[in-house]
Amino acid sequence: MTYLCNQPDMFVEEMIQGFAAAHRDLIIAVNGGVVRRRQAEPGQVVVIIGGGSGHYPAFGGLVGPGLVHGAAMGNVFASPSAQQIYDVALAAYAGGGIILCYANYAGDVLNFNQAQARLQAQGIDVRAVVVTDDIASAPLAERQLRRGIAGALPVFKVAAAAADSGESLDEVCRIANEANARVRTLGVAFSGCTLPGAQQPLFHVEHGKLAVGMGIHGEPGLYQQDALPADDLAEMLVKKLLQDISPTGDLPKGTRISVLLNSLGSVAQEELFVVYRKVDQLLHSRGLTIVEPVVDRVITSFDMAGISLTLFWLNDELETYWKAAADTPAFKRGTILRSEPATEAVLIPQVAVASQPVTVGSPASQRIAAIILEIFASAKQIIEAQQEELGRLDAVAGDGDHGIGMLRGVSAALDAAKKAHDAQAGAGTLLTLSGEAWAARAGGTSGALWGVILNTFGVKLGDTTAPDTATVAGSVAAALCEVMQRGKAQPGDKTLVDVLQPFSAALDQASARGISVVTAWQDAADIANTAAQQTRNLLPRIGRARPHAEKSIGTPDPGAISLAMIITVASEVIRKHCP
Ligand code: ADP
Ligand code: MG
Repeated sequence: MTYLCNQPDMFVEEMIQGFAAAHRDLIIAVNGGVVRRRQAEPGQVVVIIGGGSGHYPAFGGLVGPGLVHGAAMGNVFASPSAQQIYDVALAAYAGGGIILCYANYAGDVLNFNQAQARLQAQGIDVRAVVVTDDIASAPLAERQLRRGIAGALPVFKVAAAAADSGESLDEVCRIANEANARVRTLGVAFSGCTLPGAQQPLFHVEHGKLAVGMGIHGEPGLYQQDALPADDLAEMLVKKLLQDISPTGDLPKGTRISVLLNSLGSVAQEELFVVYRKVDQLLHSRGLTIVEPVVDRVITSFDMAGISLTLFWLNDELETYWKAAADTPAFKRGTILRSEPATEAVLIPQVAVASQPVTVGSPASQRIAAIILEIFASAKQIIEAQQEELGRLDAVAGDGDHGIGMLRGVSAALDAAKKAHDAQAGAGTLLTLSGEAWAARAGGTSGALWGVILNTFGVKLGDTTAPDTATVAGSVAAALCEVMQRGKAQPGDKTLVDVLQPFSAALDQASARGISVVTAWQDAADIANTAAQQTRNLLPRIGRARPHAEKSIGTPDPGAISLAMIITVASEVIRKHCP
């Protein structure tokens, strides 16, 4: 459990403030995360990483000379928003291109892709490198679907060292991908982790048992077995990793290999050394040469009791960059001469959050805006009341943060909607501003997708007329299309698409039959609710829940349920205003 916290929803902000204060010599806080205190050489490539908080030293602790140039830091276990990534990347940008390097999770992919598109629209050359080292999360044949865990550190490290040595964007990208191709990780857990302010851990591992293959967000393990003594555990991890690396289960004698033995949180350093002793023996006995091992916390899972083992087999180029000196809050290697303390002139300023001028809407559209504002207020109430239940649904096969994320998002949207309403915005502008606020504050997959939904809906609705059924149906259809294009989920994949799609189809039919908005929405809301419940029978084929597909049978998809809830409260508010 967490012992020290003020307000759970301020945990990450307060943590970042304290972290930046403790490492003033190396890093500086900017909007969205932290960047190196001293900017990169003009014209050089910079490497930007990011992910949820709760994984320290990933991601902020890995920022500094010789390692990465900036880290976007999301809420606990939630991807940073596209805005955060964009702000951090711009703060670190040195004019020579940007590598966005991150672990493979649906929410991170969505948000990093959006940030990449926005940076490219500014004329900046940007490449993405996605880390996929977790052998438990998909078979080797589907390597690109694997999650990224502790193997991210070697990928970050070689990419950043190559960038600092003046390599081109293409070269840094190639080297980082080469590192990802040569890194494999497997983790085990003895107990779950508990999010700040939560009463219950995300999952339980029975006493005396071992969960093999869990993710770093508390996604439950693939299977459980009896706990093993340290040596047997070392043997199991080494064997499974080597089997994944080569069909013979062995690497050629003399292969140079690095090893990362990582505590996921509450396993003591001494316990790691006991396990490492055996790992070292096993690898030496196979004739492998170990290069610069790391036995430490690399990527944690809050207070989870567990460890992961990473093998990273090298070539000359990767070895050079892996061994290069680095000086970050959490990772130090060799000696980097610290330059004089940064003077005010080189301090990187906080990036100002862009504030958009609000377009005044027509009186008719302002009346619709007032109704939408009320919908956000009701949506916040229902999400607040259901927050725990949504978290519980998400914890069955995901990471348990859906309730927290939705509440953060809907609260930010409500605040933005209030401001927009005060500034006499029309319905379209009020929706797009709320969508931006939602995505920026919530992070995660659903945060990015809710941003897309509200934004698309708003753009279609516009600021001049009160929409008829055809306009509402067209706006929902456009939102569905955008969500499917960005998130790549199809109907049947067990996501919120399984609600949005039948909801959209029902509105389309109602529009064709000339039914009023109120009745059309109400009927479509019933269909949305049924569809949300029916997701319980589906197997997840996308997102965090995919590796735990069978576990989620019988439990509806949390994102589908929360979408149906909000559609339903919207129906009630609409009916009240247009009886
Ligand atoms: P995260 O998965 O980042 O932890 P949340 O827990 O807030 O984010 O949201 C999870 C929900 O997001 C899922 O229940 C599902 O409905 C939705 N989701 C996940 N991936 C996709 C996708 N690719 N397309 C549409 N919806 C998705
Ligand atoms: Mg989640």
